Amino acid sequence: MEKYDLIIVGSGFASSFFLKKYLEKSGAEKRVLVLERGILYPHQERLKKARQEEVAAAYQHLEGFRETYQYNNTEKSWVFDPNFGGSSNCWTGCTPRFMPNDFKIKTLYGVAQDWPITYDDIEPYYCEVEEIMMIGGPAVTPYPKSKPYPLPPQKLSTVDKLLQQKYNELYISQPTARATKPVGNRNGCCSSLVCNLCPVNSKFTIENTLTPVYKDERVTVKYGCQVYNMITENDKVKGVAYKENGKDVESIGEVIALGSNAIFNAHILLSAGDRSYYTGRGLSDQRGTFATMYFDKLDNLGGSSSITANGYMLYDGVHRKERSACIIESFNEPIIRNEAGKWRKLAKFKFIFEDIPKDDNRVMLSDDPLKPRLEFKGHHEFVDKAMKNLGSDIEKIFSFLPIEKIEMDNYFQKTEYHICSTTRMGKSAEDSVVDKNLVHHQYRNLFVLGSGAFPTITPANPTIALSALSLMAANNSF
Ligand SMILES: Cc1cc2nc3c(=O)[nH]c(=O)nc-3n(C[C@H](O)[C@H](O)[C@H](O)COP(=O)(O)OP(=O)(O)OC[C@H]3O[C@@H](n4cnc5c(N)ncnc54)[C@H](O)[C@@H]3O)c2cc1C
Repeated sequence: MEKYDLIIVGSGFASSFFLKKYLEKSGAEKRVLVLERGILYPHQERLKKARQEEVAAAYQHLEGFRETYQYNNTEKSWVFDPNFGGSSNCWTGCTPRFMPNDFKIKTLYGVAQDWPITYDDIEPYYCEVEEIMMIGGPAVTPYPKSKPYPLPPQKLSTVDKLLQQKYNELYISQPTARATKPVGNRNGCCSSLVCNLCPVNSKFTIENTLTPVYKDERVTVKYGCQVYNMITENDKVKGVAYKENGKDVESIGEVIALGSNAIFNAHILLSAGDRSYYTGRGLSDQRGTFATMYFDKLDNLGGSSSITANGYMLYDGVHRKERSACIIESFNEPIIRNEAGKWRKLAKFKFIFEDIPKDDNRVMLSDDPLKPRLEFKGHHEFVDKAMKNLGSDIEKIFSFLPIEKIEMDNYFQKTEYHICSTTRMGKSAEDSVVDKNLVHHQYRNLFVLGSGAFPTITPANPTIALSALSLMAANNSF
């Protein structure tokens, strides 16, 4: 049996950024095996299928995920694309950074747990990810940046511009992986709002940018291989066990990296007998709700792309001692008011709250060795408290605009599509599953990548952070 220097499970963001850095730092003699449960389902094929069928085209390719776990909570869903490139195929490409204080909310606000790293530790890797993804973003941001965004910012709408004049760096053009101008083999964003299956190949995907990593001659990619267990000996992982075409197969590796997202990383660890209290615990996601504002004498016009701006006005501060931080997204949907003379006198915003991981929201083993069982009992009480305050917060923030009325959605989205915190990072096995370089506290040749490592869930989107963590882990370890 061939022994690999590195075996990587999955081919989404977490795996691809880790692999990229590993190859940069390793010699020509290294051998890497990538095991991907799904297929290579090229963007062009997805588009062809979407054009032929009358179903909600953007989501049809996503259906496969429902069969991958056991779960019976209809109030909350956990969505991902189980194929090459993972959810890069269907993500929206919103890439605001976390704030420096997100990494130390225990120290500052007495809540949850600090990260074992600071914003300064991850900052250079944020820059590297933004360069690889060719993020478009503004010159001025609420978080410090050592390098400018590589592409220009997207255009703001009329209402966005007024909010920016009022709140300066707390209201910015949303940093985005939907290319703001043509770059490499990607087109500029067409603003058609079907980002989940981008019709012009504008947003960053693993397929359109990181395919060369998988074509490296040191790398072997095997599709249709679902890893479900690991072979361990004392405190070392010797290899992985997987199903290939219905057959049980094992591969042996010097180093193993799990990049199969926060559900399956935890499941593989549990199957292998990891008995850390934290493994599988803390399954979380942010929570979002919408509000529509109707104006008296203000036409909302312009703005590029589906989500044009981020507001950080409700984000950081002492309120985090008792309720969740919130990030605001300006939704640039083509909606109109059905009233003569008032068609454009409205704006729609989404308010997204951070969650604090709760131990009884879990990934567990089930009676089927290939399927984890998920249990989700609800978000942290801080989310509800922040939601209760939202009406008055909105009035405070937006009251300088000529508002006629505000319509609160009062409906929480079933998902923000971010699966986090089942293998959290920390200082020792006493408080976490992995260390600051994503190395498992017990199995020191095992990396557990992805947003499962987040000890707390900030309101900002997670993917550039988890990609940056992968770069940092590989850079510090090889
Ligand atoms: C509709 C949608 C919109 C989103 N929009 C945004 C956004 O705007 N901004 C943002 O920051 N984030 C967004 N996200 C979240 C983002 O996509 C995820 O954070 C990101 O994909 C996680 O990367 P990952 O590599 O850890 O996991 P994934 O992308 O889930 O990749 C996991 C990979 O592992 C493979 N795999 C899984 N299990 C196994 C196994 N047992 N054996 C072998 N292979 C396995 C999968 O097939 C896949 O290739 C969105 C997600 C969705 C679904």
